[in-house]
Amino acid sequence: MDNDKETLFLCKPCAEEMKSYKTVASVEYIRPARDKGTCELCGRRRYGYMCEVEFREPEGETY
Ligand SMILES: [Zn+2]
Repeated sequence: MDNDKETLFLCKPCAEEMKSYKTVASVEYIRPARDKGTCELCGRRRYGYMCEVEFREPEGETY
């Protein structure tokens, strides 16, 4: 099954933090943003990067 990919604006600390999430397979920096934007993880306005985040399907979850 294909993993979900999403393009998000993230500040660098959040992009690094996302890499440690179990649900995130990979975070790739596409390009630095020229202007400040709102980080989609922490919600702060700061310089950051357009990132391509690849999500992993949760494993072993039973409902
Ligand atoms: Zn952030």
